[in-house]
Amino acid sequence: MLPYLHGAENIVPGLEAALLGRSVGDSLEVEVAAADGYGERASKPFKIPRNQFPPDVELEPGMDFVIENDQGEQRVHWVMELDDTAVLVDGNHPLAGIDLFFSVEIVGIRDATEVELDHGHPHGPDGQGHHH
Ligand code: ZN
Repeated sequence: MLPYLHGAENIVPGLEAALLGRSVGDSLEVEVAAADGYGERASKPFKIPRNQFPPDVELEPGMDFVIENDQGEQRVHWVMELDDTAVLVDGNHPLAGIDLFFSVEIVGIRDATEVELDHGHPHGPDGQGHHH
């Protein structure tokens, strides 16, 4: 079960649009084009020398990290492959450029708490959950 806060971009836009106005008990299959999911691929993967990462960081494919560019903007990147000398990284979400399929069953709908609205994300199924 995945709680989400509708309207707060907790889930990809195409899925959020498909769930608008649905009721408890509804089951639906949702096809979301890449553009309405994690976006199209906007850049190519590139290599970074392994020694530019801290030596104590255990790198593995799929992990994400933040690169700050010259303008001070922070962008998430993902490790694709690595060997002893170089790390191939990608600035696209791993699901960018991919059409997505969701199988959804709506098991509950409730009003968001004020704290949840303030934070922009749900605090568990009952709104009382602890969060990071
Ligand atoms: Zn919160």
